[in-house]
Amino acid sequence: KVRVRFAPSPTGPLHIGGVRTALYNYLFAKKHGGDFVLRIEDTDQNRYVDGAEDYIIESLNWCGIPYDEGPGKEKGFGPYRQSERKDKYRAYAEELIASGNAYYAFDTSEELDAHRKDHEEKGKTFIYNWHNREKLNNSLTLSSEETREKIENGDAYVIRFKSPQDETLHLKDVIRGEMEIDSNILDDKVLFKSDGMPTYHLANIVDDHLMEITHVIRGEEWLPSLALHYMLYRAFGWTAPEFAHLPLILKPQGKGKLSKRDGEKMGFPVFPLEWKDPASGDVSTGYKEEGYYPEAVVNMLAFLGWNPGTEQEFFSLDELTKAFELERVHKGGAKFDPEKTKWFQQHYMQEADESQVTKEFQKILKEKEIMVEESYVKNVVSLIKERAVFVKDLWDQGYFFFISPTSFEPKDAEKAWKEGSAELINELKTFLEGQENFETELLQAEVKNWIKSKEIGFGKVMMPLRLALVGALQGPDVYEIASYIGKQQTLSRLTKAIE
Ligand code: GLU
Repeated sequence: KVRVRFAPSPTGPLHIGGVRTALYNYLFAKKHGGDFVLRIEDTDQNRYVDGAEDYIIESLNWCGIPYDEGPGKEKGFGPYRQSERKDKYRAYAEELIASGNAYYAFDTSEELDAHRKDHEEKGKTFIYNWHNREKLNNSLTLSSEETREKIENGDAYVIRFKSPQDETLHLKDVIRGEMEIDSNILDDKVLFKSDGMPTYHLANIVDDHLMEITHVIRGEEWLPSLALHYMLYRAFGWTAPEFAHLPLILKPQGKGKLSKRDGEKMGFPVFPLEWKDPASGDVSTGYKEEGYYPEAVVNMLAFLGWNPGTEQEFFSLDELTKAFELERVHKGGAKFDPEKTKWFQQHYMQEADESQVTKEFQKILKEKEIMVEESYVKNVVSLIKERAVFVKDLWDQGYFFFISPTSFEPKDAEKAWKEGSAELINELKTFLEGQENFETELLQAEVKNWIKSKEIGFGKVMMPLRLALVGALQGPDVYEIASYIGKQQTLSRLTKAIE
């Protein structure tokens, strides 16, 4: 059975790239009728940030990609937070020592720094492995008594993996194919620290094994760890899962990795939800708060590194699940495009259920203390929705259905309000006072006839009329507007314009 996991470290809010990793894991699991597991990798207590785990879970839920198994959804492979699995890891590190695949190392950071510097001076990079292992302070050079004494003595140590010498390692990635790595360039990575905590590498491999993970789908930044992970599986005698490393998400300009800064500079969110940093109190906006629909964000993320190989661009989660294939994920970095995200949003805004949009728009109206009947709001929504990308746009594009304009757009006024406009609008007002029926078509026919009878150009009346009703030369059909706001409002706005 396919089992995949999303394994974030709760060191802050989930970046949009993390959401994409979660999404691809989700899609792959669903496609194969498998399980999508959430595992919290919180072994690095120095980097732990309060609230980050809740944020991760809320983000997945908002996107509509909840996990099947994980914190709060125990399914027999728990606990799902590594800090709660702490006791499990030491035995595995010791197993590797016993089998000769790992060893204790007692070097202090000062000693290691000195070695690094010494190498640098000779123009070499310091790699902690068979090149110099013998000269360093570890259990491979110390006798077992000396090693035991040091440990009992409370000397700080780490447990390092013993990487092989002169071996060509063969690695496989579903997206990248086969890769060869020369083992001589690999560090003896730390697996276990003297504070009793495993490092990412050990905990990650042990947990993927214990949780019976079949496919590891994660960001490209973990590709350099793949060789070590392969060697760890081999040393334990376990079958390694399949690996797929997702391409980097690049800045809109194309060069370099997308960062929080890019979003700030260019005015787009890089987080799914708003995040308030507990330390600084800084607030970063999220896609949700900016008014994006999760469908738009998911559709955009799906295409950030994958394509279906067809012309289809709009995909529901269900359709994505059917179409998604790991083999179709590309290797090359995926350029982030904020405009494309808006374009997806515009599509889903048009697709959205009008009653739903009406409800959301009513919230905005309520904040402005505008109370109107739902049916009226709904009619306005159907009339102006077409040009809106976000629900909040409905206000900018249709405020005049709810309030009379507070000012006139100067440029538009200059264009629309000429000599004689006041008299004309005054005459029109008198004419409209006599109109009982303000139904759009009827009104249109009557006003047109009236203008004709006066033998003047239509623009002479229509432009100042629009300006009076809207405050600017924008909006839908002017008769629709007059009809919606009704006779009384229309007349009152005309009066105000003349004054
Ligand atoms: N904890 C790692 C992270 O934060 C997980 C990497 C992996 O999926 O192996 O991304």
